[in-house]
Amino acid sequence: MTDWNAMDEQYLMSTYTRLPIAIAKAKGNVLYDTEGKTYLDLFTGLAVNVLGHSHPAVLEALHRQGDAFLHISNKFLNPPAIRLAERLVKHSIDGKVFFGNSGAEATEATVKLVHKWIKEQDNGKSGFVVMKKSFHGRTLGAISLTRQPGVFQDFPQPDIPVYEVEPNNVEALRQICHEKQPAAILAEPILGSGGVQPLSEAFMTEMAHLCHRQGMLLIMDEIQTGIGRTGKLFAHQHHQLEPDLILFAKGVGGGLPLGGIIAGRKVAHLFRPGDHGTTFAPSPLSAALGNAVLDVLLEHGGLEEGRENADYLWRQLIQLQKRFPSMVKECRGEGMMIGIHTALQPKQANQLQQHLLEQGILVDITQGTVIRLLPPLTLTPRETDTFIDHLEAYFESIV
Ligand SMILES: *Cc1c(COP(=O)(O)O)cnc(C)c1O
Repeated sequence: MTDWNAMDEQYLMSTYTRLPIAIAKAKGNVLYDTEGKTYLDLFTGLAVNVLGHSHPAVLEALHRQGDAFLHISNKFLNPPAIRLAERLVKHSIDGKVFFGNSGAEATEATVKLVHKWIKEQDNGKSGFVVMKKSFHGRTLGAISLTRQPGVFQDFPQPDIPVYEVEPNNVEALRQICHEKQPAAILAEPILGSGGVQPLSEAFMTEMAHLCHRQGMLLIMDEIQTGIGRTGKLFAHQHHQLEPDLILFAKGVGGGLPLGGIIAGRKVAHLFRPGDHGTTFAPSPLSAALGNAVLDVLLEHGGLEEGRENADYLWRQLIQLQKRFPSMVKECRGEGMMIGIHTALQPKQANQLQQHLLEQGILVDITQGTVIRLLPPLTLTPRETDTFIDHLEAYFESIV
């Protein structure tokens, strides 16, 4: 039998710590490995497969667009992508879309667009305010805005100033904005790899207020929180504010690479022919799948269904927290983006992940001790019960 683990180590650069499972098939909310073992998928390719795997509407779009054409180029009009852009704009802010292939490319486009904005404004404002422990991607431009030392410390830092603020520290935010006169605030509405840390209503409101008063751009990185994950198409829509720019990726291509930005009226005019671009994006196939995802979410009740499934999961988690207060400190997040902040040591958290894996349940661990759940919106109450039962049994075995 093929030893995928050994071959992976021999032929692929070691940029990730992998779980030793080779996937053969994925259907609904279940993964099948090459040995026939099944896993309940509670991290959905890191927030990509919002409708689970092989959703019929997504497969139908795959076949239809595959028969039509796979790739053209940006020299032509691209109907699936135009349609997707229209829908993203109509369900968010008044503006225009630029498509790339990934989250990092969405961040790069943001960096370049904000540079053009700074140049156009020419009023002495420069640089970005970002959150401590933020994550915005791994290309050079993106790591300069990512405040996790493990991600940026070995690489060159850019000229553009970057100011770090503790999430939810309103006073610190005000002070930096007054002292430094930045051009933009960039934030994830819920920090993802930073430990599933939601920004508070007060902090979000203050960000919007400061941006309005000081003429700064308000930029929301919705790469992980977007496309229905928190129960709305974009997570900032839980708050009363209107960003100038929204980054999206992960779930938007229905499982295929796609990302980009929605640029509001203040900045949408700034990219002119030649300013930015890429060969592959927007892939007509990714865009067709994206349209299928939006069909399900916006027109066939997918968002509501996701909210109901998430409510059930949250209720069970709160119960679990009450039963094991010494294990579960707090459950944070919104909808199907959940951080179970455990009182475990990092080593124990890893053991828990391994144990759940053996029981056929896939969860992610972030910031050492946080069980990060990014389940599909289609997670059924029965699947939730299975997960909770296993978690409970494990806690019982170690208290
Ligand atoms: C995943 C992620 C990115 C980077 O996206 P890639 O597609 O991996 O480049 C950026 N920002 C946030 C919030 C993310 O979760």
